[in-house]
Amino acid sequence: IRYQNQYDNQTSNSQSSSISSIVANHYNSIHNNDIQERKKSRIYYMRNFNNWVKSIIIRDTIKLLRSERDDKNDTEFIVHDLACGKGGDLTKYEKSQITHFIGSDIASVSIEHCKERYGNSRKYFKAEFINADCSRELIKDKLSDPNIRFDMTSCQFSFHYCFESYDQVRTMVRNASECLKIGGIFCGTMPDSIEVMRRLKECGTNQFGNDVYSIKFDKTYDEMTAAGISLFGAKYDFHLEEVVDCPEFLVYFPIMEEICESYGLKLIFKKRFDEFYEENREGDDNSRLLNFMEALEKYPPKDRERPMGKPEDYRHIREYLQN
Ligand code: SAM
Repeated sequence: IRYQNQYDNQTSNSQSSSISSIVANHYNSIHNNDIQERKKSRIYYMRNFNNWVKSIIIRDTIKLLRSERDDKNDTEFIVHDLACGKGGDLTKYEKSQITHFIGSDIASVSIEHCKERYGNSRKYFKAEFINADCSRELIKDKLSDPNIRFDMTSCQFSFHYCFESYDQVRTMVRNASECLKIGGIFCGTMPDSIEVMRRLKECGTNQFGNDVYSIKFDKTYDEMTAAGISLFGAKYDFHLEEVVDCPEFLVYFPIMEEICESYGLKLIFKKRFDEFYEENREGDDNSRLLNFMEALEKYPPKDRERPMGKPEDYRHIREYLQN
C-alpha cells in the first residue's frame, strides 16, 4: 500500500540488455492458443489455478479499495497492469467494473494482442497500452495524461524479470508506485525463490524439474552458496511446457521489500499459493469460481468428463503445489 509521496529523481536508462531482449523475443514468439487447444494442454489446470489466484487478488484488492473510499458514489477506478502480456487479466478487470486500464509490457507483439483483446471486448472501460521495458523506462513519461493517478498497480508473474540488477528493480518499483494514489495498492505474483533454492539444494545438481517444467542454473547449490549468491542477476533458465522458455532471476524478497519501502510502499501481505489457496478456497464465490474456471484437476485424466463436485474433493491441489 502506498503511504507517502516519495521517490527518486534517478534518470531512466532506455538501453535494453541482451537478457531483456531474450525475454521480449520469447514472449513475442508465443503462439496465441484458442480455448480448445488450451483444454488439451498438460498445464490446463495449472494455468486455470494461477488464473483463479489472480482473479481473487484482483477482485479483492478492488473491493477493498472501493470500500475504503469516503465517497461511495465515486465509481472511477484506474488500474496499471505492469507487464500485462497479452491482456489475460482484462476480463477480470471488466468483472470488477474498473473505468480505466493502462497496460504496459516489453513485448510489442503481446501489447498488440492485448489491444486486440480489448478491441474485441465490450469496452466497458477506457484503455491505453504502452510498449516499454518497465525496468528501464519510466511509464509516467509515456502516459496520455502524466497527472493520472492509479488506484492499483498489478504485476502478475512478471516482477522477477527485473531482478537482473539493482537499478532495474528500482525502476520497476518506481513504475509500480510513483503514479499510485496515496492509499493505492501494488499487488503481484512471482516465483518463490526460497522454494527454488530448496529444490536446487535437494536435487544435488544444477537442474531440477519434471516432464512439464525445468529450472537450470549454471552452478549447483553448493557451488552457488560457496561463491555467495548474488542478490541481483542470480539467473536461471526456466522452461514450462508450451508457455515459457527463457531466463529469469531469483528475487530476494527482503531487498524487494526494502526498495518498495524507499518508494513509499508498505507491505500488507505476502503468501505462498498454497497458503493463499487454503485461506481463500472457502466461500461460495471462491469455490464456485474454482469450479467454473476448472482450476483444479479433480480426477485422473481418464475420468475428466465426470461432473465437478465440491471443492473438498480436489485431490491434486497439494500435488500441484508441491511438485
Ligand atoms: N501479467 C501477464 C499475465 O499474468 O498474464 C503476463 C505474464 S508473463 C508470464 C510475463 C510478462 O512479463 C511477459 O508479457 C513479458 O513480456 C513481461 N516482461 C518481462 N520483462 C519485462 C520488462 N522488463 N518490462 C515490461 N514487461 C516485461
